[in-house]
Amino acid sequence: MSYLVLDGLSKTFRQVEVLRDIRLNVEEGEFICLLGPSGSGKSTILRLIGGFEWPDGGSIELAGRHIHDLPPNRRDIGFVFQDYALFPHMTVEENVRFGLAYRKMDKAEMRERVLSVLGLVGLTGMEKRYPRQLSGGQQQRVAIARAIALRPTLLLLDEPLSNLDAKLRRQIRLEMRQLQRELGITTVMVTHDQEEAMTMSDRIAILQNGMIQQFDTPLRLYREPVNLFVAGFIGDPP
Ligand code: ADP
Ligand code: MG
Repeated sequence: MSYLVLDGLSKTFRQVEVLRDIRLNVEEGEFICLLGPSGSGKSTILRLIGGFEWPDGGSIELAGRHIHDLPPNRRDIGFVFQDYALFPHMTVEENVRFGLAYRKMDKAEMRERVLSVLGLVGLTGMEKRYPRQLSGGQQQRVAIARAIALRPTLLLLDEPLSNLDAKLRRQIRLEMRQLQRELGITTVMVTHDQEEAMTMSDRIAILQNGMIQQFDTPLRLYREPVNLFVAGFIGDPP
């Protein structure tokens, strides 16, 4: 049984159908990307999985349970967005701890958890700094640390690297993928960057106008694209 199952999701905004019959099975521990041009519906899919939006049709199952039967704080989902969204008036430690606030944990355990995730993302010793005292790449690592501090079973990433320069993007890409493998967190990442998707993913769903054109491994998308749109979007070999 797949870990995350999207079955026939549809969504309409102001009479415009932005998602149509989205079907996707994600296996436990898998890293998948939603890849497509701007406006193709990638973020909407992520927001539906996260429970920020309600689908007009279809269903979402996580670990065999209908997601709407799980209260938001029991879904064990971590999020990282494009713009980091750190609290500027809080230190790195406070930012990471914020996500743990509603968990029943004593102070010492919380501090240990925060320091351990900061270690995982290479930010040991930075816990007293404020976001403005960090580089863009460091801020994004704090956002990743905050998301994984909860020990989520599912990680949702919406263009998490698009504000970084090319060199840093490549570096953090590798780090994120390594961390994701070590922790075994099932991950769905949204991107419009085909190179990013091709180098990071186990499988990629190619979206166009709210529909999945193909859901396959990078190699198969390259070798056996189902149509010209996929072929054009994939371009160079992985
Ligand atoms: P992507 O992430 O692939 O760029 P989105 O999922 O953000 O695409 O958006 C898909 C389409 O849905 C776009 O045409 C967008 O304008 C529209 N859309 C998304 N959210 C809303 C909303 N809350 N209200 C109205 N239209 C929306
Ligand atoms: Mg988007």
